[in-house]
Amino acid sequence: MNNKPNWKGRRNYNDFSSYFKSIFKQRIQKISINAGFTCPNRDGSKSTGGCAYCNNNTFSPFYCNPKKTIKQQIDEGIDFFAAKYKTQKYLAYFQAYSNTYAPLSVLKKLYSEALENPSVIGLVIATRPDCIDKQKLNYIEQLAKKYYVTIEYGIESSLNETLKKINRSHTFEDTIHAIKLSANRGIHIGAHLILGLEGENYLDFIEHAKQISKLPINTLKLHQLQIIKNTKLEKDYLKNPDNYNLFTADSYINLVIDFLEHLNPDIIVERFVSESPSDLLIAPKWNRVKNFEIVEKIDKKLKEKQTWQGRLYDGIYYT
Ligand code: SF4
Repeated sequence: MNNKPNWKGRRNYNDFSSYFKSIFKQRIQKISINAGFTCPNRDGSKSTGGCAYCNNNTFSPFYCNPKKTIKQQIDEGIDFFAAKYKTQKYLAYFQAYSNTYAPLSVLKKLYSEALENPSVIGLVIATRPDCIDKQKLNYIEQLAKKYYVTIEYGIESSLNETLKKINRSHTFEDTIHAIKLSANRGIHIGAHLILGLEGENYLDFIEHAKQISKLPINTLKLHQLQIIKNTKLEKDYLKNPDNYNLFTADSYINLVIDFLEHLNPDIIVERFVSESPSDLLIAPKWNRVKNFEIVEKIDKKLKEKQTWQGRLYDGIYYT
């Protein structure tokens, strides 16, 4: 058993907002951008169907539209958010599809356009592990010397069998390779993981925590499996609902507690749950429980159980 580390916040896990406050000392807002990328899992280079759960409309605010320039999207996003917090700064969040999936010259143009706005202090670049290479990383490393830059990799599962089932068209070994290639460059490395994918059980979820703990990542976003309209999962779920063991809010909270106990305490947890728009969400419906309520419950339960992130972490790294 490991002792509780001295994190920046007062929570029993390594929480993102305390970390962010400690480095920025001011309010920072992400602005989602749709730069018109596609991904190899949609354009036919690996597959055409996309991942079974994917519907990029679940996170598209009104200003986020590939028909608009990056500058327009940023300006409109800032207008929207600045009404409430005038002096805050922004991170341009290249969120839709795979945001490193283009020639380097195109990436340079798009990222530079976002960074031209003096209120934008950095980038968050969401992508797949098989859409990165040394050349792109060398460029992003240069940006990271001047700006706050995160590459957020969609890992989703550490089991190749699951990745195949959900049609990710990449392996966990691709993830390990991409993350190791990105490490030690001053780039923040984020990871995204889905808990509850078809065929996975409790032990698999704990194994994800152990596998991810071995990687040199800085932040982790977790989310519960959601069945979203207009996805392959929707069709399959409506045909075979018994194949899906979707979490209730309480069972998910209990799982997250156990997951956190095995997670490397150095990994900052950025998100526990995802809240898709209700008109797109088929299941599970948690009676409109808000994200912050789940987060509060997780922390309360950790404290009640006198446990914390990393209490059972085994300390093993990939070398
Ligand atoms: S989740 Fe990402 S990688 Fe998968 S189909 Fe959607 S955009 Fe492509």
